[in-house]
Amino acid sequence: MSNKNRRHTKTQQMVLDYFENTDGAVSHEMVEKSLGDSMNRVTIYRILNRFEEDGIVHKIVGDDGVSYYARCESACDHDHHHDNHIHFRCEKCNSINCLEQSISIDLPKNYQMTNINFLITGICASCNKE
Ligand SMILES: [Zn+2]
Ligand SMILES: [Zn+2]
Ligand SMILES: [Zn+2]
Repeated sequence: MSNKNRRHTKTQQMVLDYFENTDGAVSHEMVEKSLGDSMNRVTIYRILNRFEEDGIVHKIVGDDGVSYYARCESACDHDHHHDNHIHFRCEKCNSINCLEQSISIDLPKNYQMTNINFLITGICASCNKE
C-alpha cells in the first residue's frame, strides 16, 4: 500500500485505484462488479458518498436514472465542486464521459447556482469511428 493517501482506508483506496484505472464515469454496479468480492454494496455506497463529499468524485445522474461517478478535477474540494462541464452518454457503448467543454448559463436575477447537471446523449467519438 502506498501511504500517499494515508487518510484512506484499504477499501477506500481500492475504490480510488479503480477510478484511477478507469476511463469515464462509473456506476455503483460497475464498482461492485469489479470489487464486489472484497466488499459489500453498502460499503461501496458509503465510499462513493464520502468521495463525493470530499471533492474526489462528482455524481452524474444519467437519463437512465442511474447515478454515475467521475473523478473530479483538482479544483474540487470538500463540499465545493466545480464540475460545470458537459457530460456525454453514448447510446452505443453506454459510457459516460466528462467533456472539457464547460457550461456557463446566465440565470435570472437572484438565482444562485450550486449544482449543474448537463447530460448529452448520442454517439461517442470512438463509436462514431466504426
Ligand atoms: Zn467535483
Ligand atoms: Zn460509445
Ligand atoms: Zn464530469
